[in-house]
Amino acid sequence: MGSELAQIDVSPRKGMSSAALPNSVLGDVLAEFPGLRSQIYFKNSLTALSHAMEDLVLSGAEDEQPIVVACFQKERFYRQEAKRYERIGRKSPHVFVLASPETDLIASPSNHEAIPFTPDDALANEWHLVILGDNYAACLICAERRETSETAATGKKSALTESPIESRTRRFEGIWTFDRKITCQSALILLERIIHYRPDLKERLTPLITAIPESVAKPFSHRDPEPFAQRLMTYLQTGQNKLTKAYQNIANKERRERLINSISSTIRQSLNPDEVLVIATKELSKALRVCRCLVYRCQVGDETTEIVHEALAANVPALAGNSWMLKDNPLFQAIAQDDVTAVAIADTACDERLLEPADNLAQQVAQQWNITSWLLVPVRYRDKFLGVIELHHCGSFTHTWSQDEVSLVEAVAVQLGGALLQAQAYADLENFSEQLEVLNQTRSNLIAITGHELRTPLSTIRVCLESLASEPDMAQELRQIMLETALDDADRMRYLVQDFLTLSRLESGRVPWNLEPLSVQECVDLALSGIYTRLDASVRPAIILKIPAHLSPIESDGEWLVEVLSKLLDNACKFTPNDGKIVVTAYEVDDNNLQITIADTGRGIEENQLEAVFDRFYQAEGSLRRTVGGTGLGLAICRQIMKGLGGRVWAESEGRECGSEFHLLVPIADEIIPAITSDSAPVSDSTVSLSREAIRAKYRKIVQST
Ligand code: ADP
Repeated sequence: MGSELAQIDVSPRKGMSSAALPNSVLGDVLAEFPGLRSQIYFKNSLTALSHAMEDLVLSGAEDEQPIVVACFQKERFYRQEAKRYERIGRKSPHVFVLASPETDLIASPSNHEAIPFTPDDALANEWHLVILGDNYAACLICAERRETSETAATGKKSALTESPIESRTRRFEGIWTFDRKITCQSALILLERIIHYRPDLKERLTPLITAIPESVAKPFSHRDPEPFAQRLMTYLQTGQNKLTKAYQNIANKERRERLINSISSTIRQSLNPDEVLVIATKELSKALRVCRCLVYRCQVGDETTEIVHEALAANVPALAGNSWMLKDNPLFQAIAQDDVTAVAIADTACDERLLEPADNLAQQVAQQWNITSWLLVPVRYRDKFLGVIELHHCGSFTHTWSQDEVSLVEAVAVQLGGALLQAQAYADLENFSEQLEVLNQTRSNLIAITGHELRTPLSTIRVCLESLASEPDMAQELRQIMLETALDDADRMRYLVQDFLTLSRLESGRVPWNLEPLSVQECVDLALSGIYTRLDASVRPAIILKIPAHLSPIESDGEWLVEVLSKLLDNACKFTPNDGKIVVTAYEVDDNNLQITIADTGRGIEENQLEAVFDRFYQAEGSLRRTVGGTGLGLAICRQIMKGLGGRVWAESEGRECGSEFHLLVPIADEIIPAITSDSAPVSDSTVSLSREAIRAKYRKIVQST
């Protein structure tokens, strides 16, 4: 190519305003050099190329004073570039920057000439840099390629809405060359445009434009390309590094979102807090590849907690089932504070929280369980402390917890906080609805009682009293019968009201259970003493006791257990003819439970009624036809009491007229009562007497109230 350059007309174009120009600079340059082939560049590469070219100016000789024309796309942020052009502007008086008016480059130019163009100008989509000195020449002339239908329709995305990856994958098409002729031509085209936008610069630019054709022919000494190549490489590497980081961030974000999604979907599907904790433990340990992950529920003041939810890597000792000390552990105390969101320890061997004071609990725990790196994150909902997530790395390698890891665990903790509270709220709601159910039951019981069970005896009492009042001449014998009937029915009403109140109290869960080690023999004796007082031996079946002498003591509340035994013995007497018999036996089923059975030879219970007898107001013959009295609430009360005592009651029978057996399953006490276990000590030993006295006092209350 010769030294001739296309003639440039520096006068403003006719019919064109000094506003937008539709023609692309790249198009103009390519039109001048039909043999030139444009190439595709990623934004990343263009940034690197531009910086390496700008460094030519920055590292050049002071007297070089090259022409520098830079054209920036319409983007919002050019703070770094503005600083760079401030330095470039100090190197040469011929530095021209074309950009959108609102950019830092135009809004506050320092040492360069600022040339604004309007957003609809073709330049808004282009990226140019021309450097023309005596000793070097380089140019970069590119236009952005808009390929997707979305960007084509909406125009270029704002730098604000663009992700780092999107930004770096933007593609440009154009030329980059050290060719002096192409550089000179590009400089001319750009300078012409500058005069179009800023006619006031015409005078200043004309000598430069005039000198450019001579510059083409100038035999200039090409500089050593190596520094340029090295700089280019450095900028490219920096760009690549940023890209890798951006990808890493996205991968971490995705991993985090996947984990949180999986936990949230479990939460949505389950109101069972245990299930949620199991998933969170498993997923967290998998995502962060830790040796051990623990998630436990606790409160700030708790002394210890039992580890239930744990996920382990291979060969890491399990903590599940162990009691985990909280109160004296300085790390737990640290995360229990309101404003602490995590405690991350990279190396337990040299972290001062484990060293001060020496031999503190956290240090002991770390040593015992071989924890080298430790992360604790509290689970909270608003200000409520609900539990802790702990991650351990064990063995000889330490691990520094990254901000990403910590924020991932914190995000899971937030999800867990919501889930635990939601589960708690659901449990409370269930509890509340159970209480409502109980209240409703009480209401129905009350209606049943007043509607039938109380009305019947009340009518009888009324009839008796009316007859007594209206017939003063009634025979003495009949009078006595009337009075006794009225008194009997008044008693019946009293028992009914008493049983009703007891059952309501038991069902409401408001009964305090005072569990203590008790002797079965003592309890049975006390229950029998009540029966013997009320029923003479001639009007009841024989009662035989078969209770071994050295039974283990049971763990129960004497007051209530005697109540159950009394009711069962009472029923056995009621439903067994006088010539029948009642046998009370007791034996140890296993190490934890003891069974007491009250068997009678009475009228028995149909197989299909064995459970129904525990219903409220169940009476085989109906209360109106009953021959033996009773409220129909006794067995319902027994069931509630046994539930509260941590035991069980059930009935067995071969059927009608085959007798019945009522069984009680009662927990055996852990503690041994010395007097009872001692071979030589009689049952009336002082220790047992004390317990007997205590039960008696309580039982007296029941007897009095009935
Ligand atoms: P009550 O005895 O006051 O009617 P309970 O709740 O104690 O009320 O008993 C409910 C019903 O269970 C009795 O009415 C009776 O039909 C049946 N039942 C209880 N104990 C026995 C027993 N030992 N033998 C046969 N039936 C029994």
